[in-house]
Parts: sequence; C-alpha cells; structure tokens
Amino acid sequence: MSENKISSWKMIEPKEEFKLIESAFPELNESEVLVKVAGCGVCHTDLSFWYYGVKTKHELPLTLGHEISGTVIAGDNNWVGKNVIIPAVLPCGECELCKKGRSNICQKQLMPGNDFDGGFATHIKVPSRFLCPVPDEVIKKYPLEQLAVIADAVTTPYQVIKKAELKENDFAIIIGVGGIGTYGSLLSKIIGAKVLALDISDEKLATAKQNGVDSTLNIKELDIKSIKSKVREIAQELGVSPYRWKIFEMSGTKAGQELGFALLGFASTLSIVGFTMDKLEVRLSNLMAFDAKLIGTWGCKPELYPEVVDLVAKDKLKIDQFVETFPLSKINEVFKNTLEHKYKKRSVLVPDYE
Ligand SMILES: [Zn+2]
Ligand SMILES: [Zn+2]
Repeated sequence: MSENKISSWKMIEPKEEFKLIESAFPELNESEVLVKVAGCGVCHTDLSFWYYGVKTKHELPLTLGHEISGTVIAGDNNWVGKNVIIPAVLPCGECELCKKGRSNICQKQLMPGNDFDGGFATHIKVPSRFLCPVPDEVIKKYPLEQLAVIADAVTTPYQVIKKAELKENDFAIIIGVGGIGTYGSLLSKIIGAKVLALDISDEKLATAKQNGVDSTLNIKELDIKSIKSKVREIAQELGVSPYRWKIFEMSGTKAGQELGFALLGFASTLSIVGFTMDKLEVRLSNLMAFDAKLIGTWGCKPELYPEVVDLVAKDKLKIDQFVETFPLSKINEVFKNTLEHKYKKRSVLVPDYE
C-alpha cells in the first residue's frame, strides 16, 4: 500500500499459490512506459504455464498475464495519461517479418507474462511502440478493465477472419465455440457472413445462438459423414453457396481438425486456430482437387488492434456479456476455479491494491 511501489502476484513454482510481492517502480528507458493495470484476463496459456508444465521463457519467479488494459502513468510524454490495450505479443517492428506485415510472428517478439513480468500486478513496464490507444468514446461504453479481453481473446479470431478473407454472405463454419470461437462467431456476423457453430456442448451452442449465430449443430454423437450431410442441409436452409466455405477450427482437438478437413469443398478455406499436439492422417491432395486453401494463424498483429477497438466504438461488437471481473487479490481462487472449468465467462482480474 505504498507509493511508487508495484504489487505483483508472482508465480514462484508451478502449481503453487501465487505470492504477493512488492517492488519499487522500475527504471524506464526511452522506449518504455509504465502502465497502471486496469484489468488482466486469465487465458488458457496462463494455466499452461502455471499448471500444465509449459515453461515460461523468463525464469521464475514471474508475474503471469498477457491480456492487459490500463493507463500509462510514466515514461514517454506522448503516452502519459492515455488509456491503452497492451497487445499480447509485442513485436520488434524492424525485422523482415515485421516489415512484411507479419509482425505477429516476429522472432524477437516479447510477450508479457512470459518474456517479462506480466499483468497480474498493479503496474507493468512495457515497450510503448505497439500499444493500442483506447479512445474516450469507448471508455464511456465499457470500463477499461473489461476491454482487456481485446488484447487476446477477441483479436486472435479477428486476425484469422481477415486472413481467410471472410466476406459478406460467405458461409462461416466455426468448429468449437469456447472463448475464441464465440468471438470468432460474433466477428463473422459483423462482417455479414452466415455463421454455423459446431460444438459438443449444448450450453455453448445455446450461448452462440443467443448471440446471433445463424445455426448450430451438436456433433457429439455424429460421425463425420452424417455431420457433412447435415452441414450441407444447413447451408441450403441458410441459402448460402455450396462453394467457398470458410471453415475455422477453433477447438484445438484432433476430432475438430479431422472434421474441418472433411468439410473442405471447392474453393473453400480451412483455418487452423486451435492447437493440439495430436497428428492426423489426411489426403492433402484434396486441397489440389478442390482448389482449396489450408492456413494457419498465430495471435494477432498489433497493427490490427485499432480496427477491433473501432468495432467496439461503433457498437458493432459488444464485449461485456462475456467478461466477469474479480479482485486481483482473489487470483489463487480464480486460477483454481478456472482449472476446474467453473466459469462460463472470461475472467478479468482487477487490481485491488494501490
Ligand atoms: Zn492468451
Ligand atoms: Zn520483428
């Protein structure tokens, strides 16, 4: 509770409780700013670091958290006082990939809560170059802490939708409507596509339906052949073309990937958004025969963040119904509950310390 101090909840050891540690405000170089954290979302990646044995690039102890919004309070005067979203991946801006418009896979990229201390803290030191400013009109609609989800959960599907060149009246098939898939569905609707959500959870499909998805199908008890014929029926009902389907695999499962590949038809595009270590056997020549496309996607380049903020500013994208905030001091409880799948919404931790 003291001035010019950062209170951070640090991961000391995997699976152990996070510990509250105080430190002095850090030195800033001219390319860095200090951000007072408004909120930091809890992502599956944080759970991977904390519980599932994935190693952080920076050694422990480390503050996790990479889905951050806040206000710049020190550093470059051009930024001080501004409300910002901190992109989950901060590229170098100078390398070949950055210069060719692929900054999201910059090999010198820095990720808060992985390469350096992240957002489960009162403050965070970050490079200022790729911060995304949040206009006042957006702050009038949503508290800054809720906008943290734009840093990861919303922007990842946004990038892949752009990359897959989804257009108005296209048929978008979303496999897996969890966190990323729900925003993927909403963004596809904003573009004007007809959207079909496929999942094995009636509850998730019901949420997708409530939020404007055109059609849903529970695929739990179905084999691939019957799913294919049902999807064809749904396409007819929705009046979309049998060609050029845009399929988005967002479940990160082998079954989801197999289904996505099986749904490929003439001139269609399958985008792999979810991750699994599992391998599958497919006839890649289908891509040739269908003149189809198979693409991958990683995160979202910071250059696209302002477009997403603009969708929120224009009331096209609503975010509050998918976000639940908790005091940061409850971090240990929230992580345990997240592990046990107790929450239906994205949890955002809000610092309750000075
Ligand atoms: Zn994440
Ligand atoms: Zn770079």
